[in-house]
Amino acid sequence: SKVTVKELAEIMDKNVSEIITKLIGLGIMATINQELDYDTAQIIASEFGVEVEPLEDVTMDDVIDDIEIEPDRPEDLKPRSPVVTVMGHVDHGKTSLLDAIRKTKVTSREAGGITQHIGASEVKVNDKKIVLLDTPGHEAFTSMRARGAKVTDIAILVVAADDGVMPQTIEAINHAKAAEVPIIIAINKMDKPSANPDRVKQELADHGILIEEWGGDVISVPVSALNGENIDTLLEMILLVAEMEEFKANPNRKAIGTVIEAQLDVGKGSVATILIQNGTLKIGDSVVIGTTHGRIRAMMNDKGKRVNVAGPSTAVEITGLSEVPEAGDQLFAVEDDKIARAIVEKRINKIKAEQLKASQKISLDALFSQMEQGQIKDLNLIVKADVQGSVEAVKQSLIKLSNDEVVINPIHGGVGAITETDVNLAAASNAIIIGFNVRPTASADSLAKKENVDIRSYRVIYKAIEDIEAAMKGMLDPEF
Ligand code: GDP
Repeated sequence: SKVTVKELAEIMDKNVSEIITKLIGLGIMATINQELDYDTAQIIASEFGVEVEPLEDVTMDDVIDDIEIEPDRPEDLKPRSPVVTVMGHVDHGKTSLLDAIRKTKVTSREAGGITQHIGASEVKVNDKKIVLLDTPGHEAFTSMRARGAKVTDIAILVVAADDGVMPQTIEAINHAKAAEVPIIIAINKMDKPSANPDRVKQELADHGILIEEWGGDVISVPVSALNGENIDTLLEMILLVAEMEEFKANPNRKAIGTVIEAQLDVGKGSVATILIQNGTLKIGDSVVIGTTHGRIRAMMNDKGKRVNVAGPSTAVEITGLSEVPEAGDQLFAVEDDKIARAIVEKRINKIKAEQLKASQKISLDALFSQMEQGQIKDLNLIVKADVQGSVEAVKQSLIKLSNDEVVINPIHGGVGAITETDVNLAAASNAIIIGFNVRPTASADSLAKKENVDIRSYRVIYKAIEDIEAAMKGMLDPEF
């Protein structure tokens, strides 16, 4: 944090010339607009007998750990519309199905209007709303989930009646199950002469999806995205499942949502489509999205219409953000801009600190310099070997190397290949991994590179001892 000579004078209610005189006394030739660092400002202030607090609002920092999400009271919850993702094997008709749904539901009034692509669209069925996410496939679904976002309430699993259950069908089933999202089966391409829905049902049963006709609880609807057959029924089934699941949200709280899409628009700046999941977003609201903040300048719905408020289960494209957020980032509306900035600043600092920590992970080669600075006196090790006997032998030989100044500390030992779990443990505890007749798995290897974890593989114990001893020599306090 910095302050100019002029600002400092104003804060302390002194003349600029008095400040400059004091600065000259410190050997600093300053001008009125010169920026002074905190330490200098503090010295000057103390010369005038003024106690200085850090100039930036650090108290805010202490208050806001991050956003606290208060749970809703049950009586504040109102039913909300379902949000649906279409999944299934390539070419089974995901895109066609989305198009068919939208086409059947475009009202005559909207027909003239141009539907905007914002990443999600809404259809009305019997006066009830369904939100469709426009990016079909389970990759988008899962990458969002990997980022901690859950945006889908119901998964429509499209299976082509002429092709049956295929690898990506099975993947989609597993992803939906892992996310605990209810599935509705759309058996598509029923118009084709080669359509064989019974085979589809059988194959689904083989993969643990038992449809209602077969005594299970999964709804299936035979459809044709091509000629629109049964699309209405499919939509009604979505509403039925939604009703059973009782999706609810509290419209009367600050908005919480997830970024569906985001990009830089030449005219509008950073734009993002947000699926509002709880609360209501309003024009002028201050928001935090990942490490981005802003104030909602404008909102546009999927019909390209400007809106001033967006409640639960609504997708809106927003403008007014400082930067382009990432899909899957969560949006939180907060009290005001100051808080939004403080939260973002804190998040960025946290990320920086984590990156720094990652880049400081110990490698045996780097030990010397770190030890020289007297920073580390414990050498944490993880020992993996092909047989338990070797694990113990390696551990014992290495522990014996401990001396008054450096303690060898095996924090974990085990039999088998070096895995991601080992690397994560090493990263968390600044440990080196010693592999004896074992190698890291490919994923462990790449994680280790990312986390800067040193993995050393040996075939003979004395080589390991030699290396550790050499590193320890660097760890010892220099003797004079
Ligand atoms: P996606 O890869 O799952 O998104 O599949 P698409 O929607 O791109 O459809 C793949 C192909 O199947 C396209 O040539 C569509 O025209 C065709 N298709 C989709 N639905 C139907 C249908 O109900 N009947 C027939 N006959 N063809 C369809």
